Amino acid sequence: MYALADCNNFFVSCERVFNPALNGRPVIVLSNNDGCAVSRSNEAKALGIGMGVPLFQVKDIVRKYKIAVLSSNYALYGDMSKRVHATLRQLAPAIEIYSIDEAFLDLRGLEHEDLGAFARRASALCLKNTGIPVSIGVAPTKTLAKVASKWCKNRPPMKGGYFLNSQEERERILRVTPVEDIWGIGRRFAKKLYENNVTTAWDFTQIPGEWVQKKMSITGWRTWKELQGEACIAFADHTPAKKQICVSRSFSKEIFDYEKLVEQVSLFTFMVCEKLRKQESVCSQAVVFVLTNRFKENVPQQVESRMVTFPVATSGTPEINQSVLRELSYLFRKGYGYKKAGVILSGILPRQAVQLHLYDTRDREKQDRLMQVMDEINTDMGPGTLSVATASTKGIRMSRQHLSPQYTTKWEDIPIVHCK
Ligand SMILES: [Mg+2]
Repeated sequence: MYALADCNNFFVSCERVFNPALNGRPVIVLSNNDGCAVSRSNEAKALGIGMGVPLFQVKDIVRKYKIAVLSSNYALYGDMSKRVHATLRQLAPAIEIYSIDEAFLDLRGLEHEDLGAFARRASALCLKNTGIPVSIGVAPTKTLAKVASKWCKNRPPMKGGYFLNSQEERERILRVTPVEDIWGIGRRFAKKLYENNVTTAWDFTQIPGEWVQKKMSITGWRTWKELQGEACIAFADHTPAKKQICVSRSFSKEIFDYEKLVEQVSLFTFMVCEKLRKQESVCSQAVVFVLTNRFKENVPQQVESRMVTFPVATSGTPEINQSVLRELSYLFRKGYGYKKAGVILSGILPRQAVQLHLYDTRDREKQDRLMQVMDEINTDMGPGTLSVATASTKGIRMSRQHLSPQYTTKWEDIPIVHCK
């Protein structure tokens, strides 16, 4: 048996934990640079605000219904996500983190328990420990667990947990689930299925397996079997180390100034190296790229990248930063307005697998110790307490006009409780 725990309207819920004035009101959280609505409270959904809709398109509704608008506060969401996962970890033998707001639980060995009660208890515990409402669906396959979690999401009497076990229940729910809502059915296949009069998840389970095998991908075939109750998507209880790590952002305004661009790219390098060390890896290549604003006509355009290869695979921020900035100096052109930049690390290996180089003169032990101290200080004192001198101290140049405080990751932002 598997469970899928999905946080309801996650970004909005995180904001509400520390700002209860947002409860009961329509709220939306925007993507980077305050572009589109990426999380909506139920009240905002009811007003017809679609997922991913640009803010300017709904300006009138926002004003009319006094919708609370917030910039995305990833420091807060990342930390709250960790708290939810920590609670889930106490409940199940193994957990697979699927995204910032979703995790699968492996419930093998718990089959003798009342799993409906288990799901409701787990949801209540997440709410108590973190303040986040979580919908937990339990079923014999991961795909059905997703269906079950969605089923209890907007049904308050189910108390955030549902065990989808009987054949009758499965049929009843799949009959009212649109086929495009099923995990693993992409938009392209949904279209193809609609053309063949397959509109619900139940219809999909009723078409012959041979047709699915012939006309759809292996994912479609697995999904078909999973909906019948045959588990065939494996459980991954550890996240495999990433083969490539990237940090990139679009800027709120084009950057023309070389020093300003250096500050940003250096900050990206700092962040990407931190991620690399977190997964205990080293890299042998780094790519830096820059993009001008392709939506502006009649201005010079540049989309270009440069790569460096390190003779000895490394995770040292100063070393990688130095090389990245050298490449950036070759990329930069005066008079060009840069809208986006990023740094990608590749050739990633486990830290223990480093091949030394005969003529390497760098004191690698010292560099490793320095990075370890830097990471420890940044964990204890807050992100970015120690950085490289070339990196911006003001953060990424993004437009975040409606940003809430970093309640849980910044000392100055911790809420103060006044007692009378
Ligand atoms: Mg969610």
